[in-house]
Amino acid sequence: MDCEAIQSSFSACWQRFLACFKKPSEDKGQRRRGDRPETGAVSGPVESANPNDLRPLPPLPVEKAADHYTALYDYSARTEEDLSFNTGDTLEVLDKSNGDWWYAEALTGISASKRGYIPANYVAPVESIDAEPWYFPETKRLDAEKMLLAGGNQQGAFLVRNCESQKGELSLSVLDSGRVKHYKLKKLDNGHYFVSRTRTFQTLKELVGHYSRHSDGLCVRLGEPCKKMEAPQTHGLSYNTVDQWEIDRKSIKLLKKLGAGQFGEVFEGIWNETTAVAVKTLKPGTMDPDDFLREAQIMKRLRHPKLIQLYAVCTMEEPIYIITELMKNGSLLDYLRKEGSTLRISDQIEMAAQVASGMAYLELQNYIHRDLAARNVLVGENNICKVADFGLARVFMKENENVYEAKEGAKLPVKWTAPEAINQNKFTIKSDVWSFGILLYEIMTFGQMPYPALTNYQVVQKIPQGYRMSCPPGCPKVMYEIMIDCWKENEQDRPTFETLQWKLEDYFDLDVTSYDDANRY
Ligand code: ATP
Repeated sequence: MDCEAIQSSFSACWQRFLACFKKPSEDKGQRRRGDRPETGAVSGPVESANPNDLRPLPPLPVEKAADHYTALYDYSARTEEDLSFNTGDTLEVLDKSNGDWWYAEALTGISASKRGYIPANYVAPVESIDAEPWYFPETKRLDAEKMLLAGGNQQGAFLVRNCESQKGELSLSVLDSGRVKHYKLKKLDNGHYFVSRTRTFQTLKELVGHYSRHSDGLCVRLGEPCKKMEAPQTHGLSYNTVDQWEIDRKSIKLLKKLGAGQFGEVFEGIWNETTAVAVKTLKPGTMDPDDFLREAQIMKRLRHPKLIQLYAVCTMEEPIYIITELMKNGSLLDYLRKEGSTLRISDQIEMAAQVASGMAYLELQNYIHRDLAARNVLVGENNICKVADFGLARVFMKENENVYEAKEGAKLPVKWTAPEAINQNKFTIKSDVWSFGILLYEIMTFGQMPYPALTNYQVVQKIPQGYRMSCPPGCPKVMYEIMIDCWKENEQDRPTFETLQWKLEDYFDLDVTSYDDANRY
């Protein structure tokens, strides 16, 4: 065999060997044109019918459609290596090996024929149901109503979502004369969809197409898909900050002070001249950077739509910066105090349900917050609430144990803290549930100080004797019962966050819905 032949057989063998370790799903994304920096992925198909045949293989036909994605949201490039695009643009994904950020070429739109990184959660395969502008699978009934009623939607605006009460089924939510109506989309055994049995459709797209042309028994003819409220958070700030946790302090500019807590100030800032962020600056000496970084690694893994995302840190010099997503309306406590008069009971319960949802995720991850309170929940647009400062309390508590113990009254948020945490330093997810009960009180009183007539000292004295706050004025009995459940003396008798979440979410389902024809609910 001459040298070239040996080389080519070796290369084919090597490619087959590598192919054994490739997940089938990676295949499509990694079949690429080959001009970007090497990632260790194999370019080109390598399977052969005869394992002894070592001749170089002809390329397989490229599965074009599978590599093509539709943008679900607008995205503005944040670095020179990523791509800007608008909703509806088509992108060819060339490499998915970087996890949450894919390398792609824009085929249409403002970046047509340019290549760069894109956030993977901003796109869906072309022609797939996920790429349909009316498909909002993870949207709850209540959120659907909120989104459809928000400004910008006209009569007939609609969306299709997963049905909450029956797993695996879909619902159609439609805006009609300022109200949202919901229909079940049922499926026959042959997979066809229908709203009314008299007319069935092979695909959802056909169903939507039909009712967009005629109302045919629906309350109104389907109009434009519901406007998407907010693009989701990207995972990390950009493709190279996902694993690179520490970022250059110079890439952050502080713009405006948003507030101050006991450990430092918080600013609105801009990263890389492109991306709005919140920057928490920690007073020098507040904590050991190594301890903080260790905790931050855990916090970074915690990702949930109802938890503030930690983007990056600057710990090389003091003050330490903690960079997180920016929430336009600041803390829930300030928001409740400012906007109280405009909030309806359904808004209050919905905000509580969102906090419970974020906490249910922490519960599932065996993580404890330790400082749950309205001041540590942040509010974005449309009353979106996210739990903040999870993990920090743990670092502060550990590092400043003496401070906490010595100056109990001053440092420990006594009125939010469960008795076993105050008396035996026993912090568990159940002590978080106690704090959640207090947070519910804050929500239902539009940000009143808990136990308004008592000092911290009196609270510590009275709680073990069975004293509990009474039902706030105007607070539904069911909500007060939930608070009381959270304040059970024996922590095992307190509900889980999972239960709290569904109880709060179900509050509306019972409240608003009633069947008024065969399939509308
Ligand atoms: P503590 O230090 O006792 O926990 P705190 O939670 O009020 O008190 P910080 O977390 O430092 O203190 O926040 C201070 C204020 O800064 C908040 O009340 C809020 O108004 C604002 N803030 C904090 N984080 C953000 C953010 N990600 N987006 C917008 N505003 C924020």
